[in-house]
Amino acid sequence: METTGGASGLDEQLLEQLRAGLRGDVVLPGDARYDDARAIYNAMIDKRPAVLARCVDAGDVITAVNLGRDSGLEVAVMGGGHSGPGLCLAEGGLTIDLSPMRWVRVDPEARTAQVGGGSQLGDLDHAAHAFGLGVPAGIYSQTGVGGLTLGGGHGYLTRKYGLTIDSLLAVDVVLADGSFTKASEQENQDLFWAVRGGGGNFGIVTSFTYRLHPIHTVGVGISVWPIEQTPAVLGWYREFLPQAPEDLYGFFAVLVVPPGPPFPEELHHKKVCGVVWCYTGDLDNLEAVFAPVNQPGAPAFHFAAPMPYPMLQSLFDALIPPGLQWYWRGDFFDQITDEAIQVHLEYGSNNPTALSTMHLYPVDGAAHRVGADDTAWSYRDAVWSGVFGGIDPDPANAERIKEWCVGYWGALHPYSMGGAYVNFMMEEGQERVQATYRGHYERLAQIKRQYDPSNLFHLNQNIKPAS
Ligand SMILES: Cc1cc2nc3c(=O)[nH]c(=O)nc-3n(C[C@H](O)[C@H](O)[C@H](O)COP(=O)(O)OP(=O)(O)OC[C@H]3O[C@@H](n4cnc5c(N)ncnc54)[C@H](O)[C@@H]3O)c2cc1C
Repeated sequence: METTGGASGLDEQLLEQLRAGLRGDVVLPGDARYDDARAIYNAMIDKRPAVLARCVDAGDVITAVNLGRDSGLEVAVMGGGHSGPGLCLAEGGLTIDLSPMRWVRVDPEARTAQVGGGSQLGDLDHAAHAFGLGVPAGIYSQTGVGGLTLGGGHGYLTRKYGLTIDSLLAVDVVLADGSFTKASEQENQDLFWAVRGGGGNFGIVTSFTYRLHPIHTVGVGISVWPIEQTPAVLGWYREFLPQAPEDLYGFFAVLVVPPGPPFPEELHHKKVCGVVWCYTGDLDNLEAVFAPVNQPGAPAFHFAAPMPYPMLQSLFDALIPPGLQWYWRGDFFDQITDEAIQVHLEYGSNNPTALSTMHLYPVDGAAHRVGADDTAWSYRDAVWSGVFGGIDPDPANAERIKEWCVGYWGALHPYSMGGAYVNFMMEEGQERVQATYRGHYERLAQIKRQYDPSNLFHLNQNIKPAS
């Protein structure tokens, strides 16, 4: 379909400039591809950019940044499109879409991987797995490496190998003035410090270089108990996991049992609490490793099996496909008090929909061995990163899931450390962003002033340039 500047309301000359400078596509309202191009993971978000620039390389990103800055259009950056509040789309503005930049180059001898800025976790897992290697990252294969890494990144390998940023060796970045630079422990150390947790505030990362770790087949476990047993299970879990070997990871969840395998029919649709396990030690030993799950009372269902790591990484892909309504919040926790356990019991028992859930992701172990001020990630003392997810396919339930999420979060907030993982926030205001960065906020604001003084990159959990 022929597209015109008229459909987007943009100056035709600007559009010509963009088209001429990009090897990738320009997508405008009225284009047959427009609705697909602006659809993101969270279907609650319905933003209409004036133009999407689909970049294939750093040269395209430079063109798009220059045009965004000079035109005065609001600029958003899209990696994997998993932002809960849809910060990857600019309503009426320019969305710089990195999704064509999905590539991975593994160097098995150096044990590193260089990854395009628009890649998904599954791209990295797939490429590294061929060499028996991997990086700690999130638990869903279509999440973007971009947003996840820049916010910190945690997942099944975090107790063993740390946060995603703890394996980050270098980034290539296009800055707000259109210049291209690199950052690592050797170059632009302040920028490198800031991108390890400070989100997309400082520039557009066109490639990430990671240190890879040996990982191939892991022991996967799922244990669930009736929701009424939450006090016994959480009372046991809060003591058991932090002192367990770092080879063992398990995130606690309240959920509704999905109606399918591996769960027995009598559990389908039941409200439960549970733990999803990943074990990176000796796989001959799985029965003994998971024997402690009987301590709070025998689980209603327990499953354990060896699995290739990328299979674990995509275990939940089919359960929560793109296109659902999502409303989430988060908070960090350094303990699980008896009072907090009662809140989990109450909200777990009132779960409003089949997919709504709460997860407590461990962020201890190796993640605790990195110094509190070594990266912008500001909660090295947290033991769990909690997320409260109201999820449902039906837009008619949007208010119900939001109410449950905000109620659950609000009831637990007094027992939290005060701030949330930046990647589990909606648009919650500047105070919440400051609570996320605690004592690091001021240093981040100084670095922001140096690299993006006019706050071109503000569609994110925004750190304002220091005045
Ligand atoms: C189903 C699901 C499961 C998840 N599981 C986990 C998990 O296990 N662990 C975890 O840590 N997080 C998890 N997350 C949260 C996830 O880290 C965030 O949603 C993250 O923002 C996703 O990044 P993205 O690139 O897909 O998102 P996008 O929406 O594309 O981007 C999010 C933000 O990052 C910026 N950004 C993205 N790429 C770049 C780049 N290359 N350069 C500069 N800025 C960029 C964007 O501008 C935007 O502000 C999960 C999210 C979902 C939806």
